[in-house]
Amino acid sequence: MRPVIDHDECIGCAQCEQVCPEVFELRDDGLAYVINEEPGDDLASKVEEAIEECPTAAISLGEE
Ligand code: SF4
Repeated sequence: MRPVIDHDECIGCAQCEQVCPEVFELRDDGLAYVINEEPGDDLASKVEEAIEECPTAAISLGEE
């Protein structure tokens, strides 16, 4: 999986970082960033949870 954040949609709520800090990081500019572009299967469920819990649906899965 290859998570991608749409910065036009991100509101910086930090929910994704709380759910999966191994992959998502909130930075000083108030936006979340993907810090692990190819998380392994061990993180898949947490990434999917972050996608589901993002209030603006800013996270999606890009092409493999
Ligand atoms: S959960 Fe969504 S809106 Fe909130 S910081 Fe993460 S990407 Fe941005």
